[in-house]
Amino acid sequence: MSKYINLLFLLVSSLVIAQLQSPSDFLGYEIGTEFSRHSDVVKYLEHVAANSDMVAYQAYGKTNERRPLTYAIVSSSKNMANIENIRLDNLKNAGIKAGNADPKIAIVWLSYNVHGNEASSTEAAMLTIYKLVTENKAWLENTVVIIDPCVNPDGRDRYVNWYNQVRSTPYNPKQIAAEHHEPWPGGRANHYLFDLNRDWAWATQVESQQRLKIYNRWMPHIHVDYHEQGINEPYFFAPATEPFHEVISDFQRNFQVEIGKNHAKYFDKAGWLFFTRERFDLLYPSYGDTYPTFMGAIGMTYEQAGHSRGGLGIDNDEGFELTLMDRIAHHTTTGLSTVEISSLNAVKLNTEFKKFFQNGDLKYKSYILKGHPDKIDALTKLLDKHEIKYGFSNGGNVNGYSYTENGYGRMNANGALVVSTNQPKGKMVKVLFEPDTKLSDPLTYDITAWSVPYAYGLDCIASTSLVRANGSSPVVREVNQVFQNAAGYLVSWNSMYDATFLSDLLQNDIRVRFSEKDLSFNGKKFNKGSLVITRSDNIDNPQFAATLTKLANKHGRSLYITTTSFSDNRTDFGSPDIKLVHKTRIAVLKGKGTSSLSYGAIWHFFETQLKYPVTSIDTDNFNTRVLKNFDVLIMPGGRYSDFANDNSLKDLKTWIRSGGKVIAMGRAVNTFNDKEGFDVKRVKEDSSNTADDKDDDSSNTSGSNDEKLIPYDKRERERVKNNISGSIYKVTLDPSHPMAFGFGFGIITGET
Ligand SMILES: [Zn+2]
Repeated sequence: MSKYINLLFLLVSSLVIAQLQSPSDFLGYEIGTEFSRHSDVVKYLEHVAANSDMVAYQAYGKTNERRPLTYAIVSSSKNMANIENIRLDNLKNAGIKAGNADPKIAIVWLSYNVHGNEASSTEAAMLTIYKLVTENKAWLENTVVIIDPCVNPDGRDRYVNWYNQVRSTPYNPKQIAAEHHEPWPGGRANHYLFDLNRDWAWATQVESQQRLKIYNRWMPHIHVDYHEQGINEPYFFAPATEPFHEVISDFQRNFQVEIGKNHAKYFDKAGWLFFTRERFDLLYPSYGDTYPTFMGAIGMTYEQAGHSRGGLGIDNDEGFELTLMDRIAHHTTTGLSTVEISSLNAVKLNTEFKKFFQNGDLKYKSYILKGHPDKIDALTKLLDKHEIKYGFSNGGNVNGYSYTENGYGRMNANGALVVSTNQPKGKMVKVLFEPDTKLSDPLTYDITAWSVPYAYGLDCIASTSLVRANGSSPVVREVNQVFQNAAGYLVSWNSMYDATFLSDLLQNDIRVRFSEKDLSFNGKKFNKGSLVITRSDNIDNPQFAATLTKLANKHGRSLYITTTSFSDNRTDFGSPDIKLVHKTRIAVLKGKGTSSLSYGAIWHFFETQLKYPVTSIDTDNFNTRVLKNFDVLIMPGGRYSDFANDNSLKDLKTWIRSGGKVIAMGRAVNTFNDKEGFDVKRVKEDSSNTADDKDDDSSNTSGSNDEKLIPYDKRERERVKNNISGSIYKVTLDPSHPMAFGFGFGIITGET
């Protein structure tokens, strides 16, 4: 009898295998001969999950454009039956969950296509999962592979849909062909034109926010972030190059080498070129390689030649044709090789993973932070995204490194937020909070300064001893009650939360004023910049008190009610120093000539943070006649050569004289350089360390000609000295200026 059951089981399982189709069979075209739409990729992975007991496939969220964010969990059917325990054991091993575990299963996470127009990797994801569950099942006995086939579906579909519209059939490999020149803004970034490979630590975007939740549920041992680079640069894989952040362990460094050598074996056999240990470093914590690294994984970037220009095939500068098929083959090979080497080292990966989370030797044990409650709240929301633990101090003095003093300082810690490194994610705490990052090499890929206390405008002490945090948050939000007989309401002005509240008031047609003077009513004092909402301004609105109270409660703002507008200090509600806030009409330029990242940041800020409407205008459609409909024109970073002619500048001046305002950001300021009436001048660079100065140094005459010449092989390194890829400055603001209102707390202050 049991014999028959076994036979039946065999028949059924071979039937299941027979139903599992390759990507090419399922999609109806040879993989690599078309770019697949996101919806088709999702359908294929659903098909794999439906036809294999080695795959579970789920959505973890949606993009801004409502495309599904998804991930597949791939392992042996035996492991899949026990997958929740495998996950929990891994968290126990890291000390993130309570309990003991001695896991021996490697967890590998493959993230594809974070940059939408580096589009080969999502195709490779389909092929990789198929090969894992058909040809490479043995590795899955001790390995769980998590596959996110597309981290950035909005960006990828932007690229793929464009490409599919313009490509010729057959494809045209000539570089000049239209299909190799993607229009603004390109598919690299997400809907809001954010670079998701800079967003892991800050999680400003919905893709990152939702991904971090599952990332933290799994905490993989290996994380690969798939990319593409220029068409002439063959393939980059681990090991990465210096600078490495100092928290990176020897094991993490060494295992990158083992992985690289395993890939090299396959690349050498196939005759494919690659490079390692160049260009891509491990420092700034917001990348898809560094973030996982600081969370204990071996985090890596793999870069295939191709990128936006690649299309289905392109002739590169060296006379080779680079095809999508090649690109997919390379990315599939490194994916499989990563799983193989992880499977071979599964036990070691687990023991080393455990070690990474022991943080006894970090110099600073606690970071103690104080500042406006809104800013503390914003920081705790960030910590929550990374599931980093924190608490509040019950009191007592603390001392140590003061971020405000840039040296020794002390603080009364009563009510302060405390974030300590004696937790599993202590190394990430160090990386995010440390005042100064140690750079082993100045030649870094980009950002070099990000210290969280500065970024959030908070006072902070870094203490070498552990500070207890057994208090509760000192902030208690009051609930406002509707009060009909107020002469007016006062709201202090301290943070983005207040700005978002103001935005909501304006859009609900509540008229609001702000004060350029300090205010005092019935003994209660308010700083410059405070909002004043009077009954008389809103007398026509019968719902005024109810609407205002509802909005204040929605935003957690406390309304100070006064029954008289007669102040304690001569500035009454009718004072000329208490000015009406107009419902400003804002235009933002976008499109050709503008930086898509700069425009995207402005767009995202207004739409999702301030929640205030703006009108985006394409530079192609812009002319100065439209300005009469707006109060503010925002110019994102970019080049505005068409715009900077004499007639346009004349119109702009007329508009500004009648009250218009221009906010020019980054390079947009160049539009007004040395132009009459704009008072913008380019500041000459300080030439104190140029070769010319050395000529004046009479004590140094011998060989002075040689010293002028920077050797060819040192030029890149010299050039990088002129880059400022992240610096934090202490600045002095004029606290009486309206643009500085609200900065009274924290380190940025005019009162230092
Ligand atoms: Zn990339």
